[in-house]
Amino acid sequence: MTSFSDFVLLAPLNKALAGEGYTQPTPIQMQAIPPALEGRDLLGIAQTGTGKTAAFALPILHRLGKTGMTRKPKSCRALILSPTRELASQIAESFKAYGRYMHLSIDVVFGGVPIGKQIRRLATGADILVATPGRLLDLIDQRAITLRDLEILVLDEADQMLDLGFIKPLKRIIPMLPKQRQSLFFSATMPGSIAELADQFLTKPVQVAVTPVATTAERVVQGVMHVEGGNKPALLRAVLTDPTVARVLVFTRTKHGADRVVKGLGRDGIPALAIHGNRSQSQRQQALAAFRSGNCRVLVATDIAARGIDIDGVTHVINYDLPDVPESYVHRIGRTARAGASGIAIAFCSGEERSNLRAIEKLTRIAIPVLTLPEGYRAEPRPARVPQEPGQERREREFSRPREGVQGERDEHRPRKPFGQRPGGTDHARPFAPRGKGFGRPGQRNERPHGEQAAPRQDRPQGEQRQDRPQGERRRFAGGGKRFANRSA
Ligand code: AMP
Repeated sequence: MTSFSDFVLLAPLNKALAGEGYTQPTPIQMQAIPPALEGRDLLGIAQTGTGKTAAFALPILHRLGKTGMTRKPKSCRALILSPTRELASQIAESFKAYGRYMHLSIDVVFGGVPIGKQIRRLATGADILVATPGRLLDLIDQRAITLRDLEILVLDEADQMLDLGFIKPLKRIIPMLPKQRQSLFFSATMPGSIAELADQFLTKPVQVAVTPVATTAERVVQGVMHVEGGNKPALLRAVLTDPTVARVLVFTRTKHGADRVVKGLGRDGIPALAIHGNRSQSQRQQALAAFRSGNCRVLVATDIAARGIDIDGVTHVINYDLPDVPESYVHRIGRTARAGASGIAIAFCSGEERSNLRAIEKLTRIAIPVLTLPEGYRAEPRPARVPQEPGQERREREFSRPREGVQGERDEHRPRKPFGQRPGGTDHARPFAPRGKGFGRPGQRNERPHGEQAAPRQDRPQGEQRQDRPQGERRRFAGGGKRFANRSA
């Protein structure tokens, strides 16, 4: 079994790892660290929560610490590109933690905050710079930094970079990179467009892969509650009366939706904070800090703001709105299964969202069990039906307001009948609450009647679907997770 001492890292790094309480490398670390230490390029298929930050941070710190070279003004020796500010800050924190006994300078730059201070800091250069692509280009354009002396480049969460429209900035950055360099490229998925991008950054890369996105869901105990859209606030309130719902991340589809949820909870005396693109950087950081410290129990987030956030001890993820992209569901619920821990994910599904639910079940190959609604739940009183002007009914439907007599309203009060391919009928309707009872479990994979099998994922090279990680390895990681899941955030 590999241990950190097998990597022969510099002594200050081993000391920091011991301080972090890491005893054993995670699977991505086992695979990625040796070739990265040799200076090879790397193509890593892994998502956050697998320990991938240390998988690239440790070889970088080792390499930079070993050579006697020093940084030059307005330049950096290692550059880590990250799609979001939150992830960038977290990566920089990890570098600082692992490199705390070394004398390397670590800086982080992202948009949304004044550029002047960043320009002044970069005047002396940085050994390690973590940056979002847009702000990096601004700094390059203002001649505050050059990539001429770059030794190592990391592109993290490449799929998210493309989702967020960073392809143009990335293409602008490529020609600025020195030919002689090491490149490490990470993505949670590897569709054709990402593989193409990787090709432009990497030379003869070693490919490493762990935890395909669809299997991450296995560690999370899942359930779905069917509810009419307009009754979601009341359902959320009822779910939150359960004291075991201790640290909960609520996902909404839109920024305004997140604000609405926070306001609604506030009216009911349940403090909550939101993070999304319209919040300032300091507001986001304050919200994250309050959530992390336990001062705030409920954090409401949109996908983009939450991606990559690493917070230990999230007990529940609530999908208040189901995402249109099924992969987002897996990323969301992964927030509660950090580093091998397990957690509970509850999806609120309105009548209009059933096709989203089916897409998620197809991707994860899990029939998500239907939960009965919590005892304290009372549907909002329905507005009396008043004579309508022509066209009014259609407008209401577009805004998903509660409607009288629509199907789905009845679903809130008794277990749903099985729909379509849902196996096992009402067996799937189980009471909300007892952990582990009636929630989705790995054993329910592939329970698909009518011979319907989930289509093979097209976005990942065949053969990597499951063989990338021997069972035993995953179990070891999951076991180790208990140890580090206890580390306070
Ligand atoms: P990441 O995937 O880099 O976001 O890491 C997920 C979490 O796992 C972070 O909280 C890390 O501190 C933690 N972690 C990373 N590597 C290890 C390890 N070898 N042992 C224990 N915890 C780890």
